Amino acid sequence: MDLLKTVFVAAIIFIPLERLLALKPQQAIRRSHWGNDLVFLLVNGFPIKFGLLAVTAAAAVVAERMIPGVRSGVAGLPWWVQLPLAIVLSDLVFYWMHRAFHHFPSLWKFHAVHHSIEEMDWLAASRVHPVDQIMTKGAALIPVVALGFSDWVMATYALLYFWQSTFIHANVRLRFGPLKFLMASPEFHHWHHSRAAEARDRNFAGQLPFLDVLFGTMHLPRGQMPASYGIDQPMQQNYLAQMLYPVLAADAEQARREDEPQVKPADSSTRSSVPG
Ligand SMILES: [Zn+2]
Ligand SMILES: [Zn+2]
Repeated sequence: MDLLKTVFVAAIIFIPLERLLALKPQQAIRRSHWGNDLVFLLVNGFPIKFGLLAVTAAAAVVAERMIPGVRSGVAGLPWWVQLPLAIVLSDLVFYWMHRAFHHFPSLWKFHAVHHSIEEMDWLAASRVHPVDQIMTKGAALIPVVALGFSDWVMATYALLYFWQSTFIHANVRLRFGPLKFLMASPEFHHWHHSRAAEARDRNFAGQLPFLDVLFGTMHLPRGQMPASYGIDQPMQQNYLAQMLYPVLAADAEQARREDEPQVKPADSSTRSSVPG
């Protein structure tokens, strides 16, 4: 029921917002394969929630035994220290997990499902394979639960994470000015989904774009937005086929994008396009 309420609230916020500030005004509300993403949102909620609960509960139990003093120390910090600390630590883990899902062919097969989106909107955020979501988000949550941040901070973090990940996929043309380095924007994440070769394996952060500046993977050309989104290999656009895709894809190498430029530390600076 909570899920249905959340979907309803997201729809009444984002559908009008995407009409008012449309990045692609010609894109229909019921854009291509929107029903597929609605199924992802409604059906995958349970396994993802169960998986994340299992990961975080285990992390909390282990941490309580190993670092009880650290946990009580962190819980005693003021909220304005705890919240930014939780966001930075979790996004650091998210960044590297996300980058690993792009780098390793066996992981890319799962993540390719998310990148199969060809029209971006608020609903696109839900098209994520549960294995991808549980591993990436679960890993990002481990420092938050293990270090014993207060319940209030964790609840605020969870809310921020959900709404921001919905927002950065939305079909809106909102630019953040100088804040674009501090907070992930639709502009920042749309480039992550771009088909353009120069944008591939860029903009991995979930919430904090300065991590991409720090690690040489930022791509945010001034005043431009991607022309198209998606991946090169064909993927059936229905829920069951996409859930089975990582298992049925002929082999991991085949599942990679055809002209995939894999990021290596040595060449990352030359591929980066840090905005001026
Ligand atoms: Zn990605
Ligand atoms: Zn995305």
